[in-house]
Amino acid sequence: MTQGYEPCGNVVSTPYGYDRPCRAGFKVVNGEIHRLIYDIVLSRPEDYLSIYQSCCNHRCAMCHSWYFTQQAVGTWMSPRDIVEEVGKYLEIVTVREPRDRATMWHASDLCAHCGWCKIYGEPGPFCPRKLDPGKILLSPQGWGPARNIVSFTGGDLLCRPRFYVETFRAIKREYGDEVWIHVETNGYGLTDKNLELLYEAGLDSVWLDMKAFSEDIYRMLCGTTNRWILDLPAKIRDLGIVLEVVLLYIPSLVELDEFRKFAELLVNVDPYIPTMILAFFPEYMLRHVREPTYEEIVQAYRVLKSYGLKNVKIGNVSVVCRDVECVKKLIEEVGRESVAL
Ligand code: SF4
Ligand code: SF4
Repeated sequence: MTQGYEPCGNVVSTPYGYDRPCRAGFKVVNGEIHRLIYDIVLSRPEDYLSIYQSCCNHRCAMCHSWYFTQQAVGTWMSPRDIVEEVGKYLEIVTVREPRDRATMWHASDLCAHCGWCKIYGEPGPFCPRKLDPGKILLSPQGWGPARNIVSFTGGDLLCRPRFYVETFRAIKREYGDEVWIHVETNGYGLTDKNLELLYEAGLDSVWLDMKAFSEDIYRMLCGTTNRWILDLPAKIRDLGIVLEVVLLYIPSLVELDEFRKFAELLVNVDPYIPTMILAFFPEYMLRHVREPTYEEIVQAYRVLKSYGLKNVKIGNVSVVCRDVECVKKLIEEVGRESVAL
């Protein structure tokens, strides 16, 4: 609000009643800022360290993490605590990525997360055959490599940058470019000033979850405007931050007409932006909405490609493909490089 932007208006539940997410998700102890963290896990299929944060500036009707983004729950952690977690993670890293691959999008080039090389001693049917089995680890979310990326995900409070600026600086001071710093964000908090602050502090890469193009659909889904979010792909790119975009196909809400508008916007910024199509699955306040069909997802892929986007992948494949034959058909239709497994 101090920068002249509309406040999110969201409230989250806390042990002391409802409160604004930025009051419930941060606290200062002896002058040191802390963030409420729900969990820290080597996540699949991203193959990086995900820091799942509680409390969010959005209340998305389709949020599948609502039980910690709309409720204040977790452990209070300072920038020093996060640096310690990153240090522990770096000891188990098996793949060092260059900065331009510091994304979720690139993970599927390396591994399909089947675990065959570890369980059966041979590559699985969709294995990209790029990694030695010694680089594959079991995490609570399954098999895959551990890439040198730390991602801040879950509840998004980038609108209050102090914690992130201090944490990113501390990570870079300790580990330099041994680790890439990534955020998964709705973009709401990325005002010009905040984006610059985060970039200067060491932010390497942004996963921008754009949700809907039309403002009325966006507000209905997430409770806020998306006015400045639509300008972010160009701004992120201009600053030299690595960008990946995620588009969620939601039947009857975010369909091909929205995808066409996104395609036009993105291709005008850079046709090579890594773009991931995800298939919605019923959660939270949209449990009554069906999943997309295989045909709808393939059509969405074709729409993005027809506008000239070069790097489009389909993720969440298990939502539209229930068996291996279906995955094979999808690979035949769009190519192995366009299917994230
Ligand atoms: S922005 Fe993400 S974490 Fe926040 S409510 Fe929406 S879907 Fe959930
Ligand atoms: S490298 Fe990944 S995709 Fe290949 S067999 Fe091992 S776990 Fe499966």
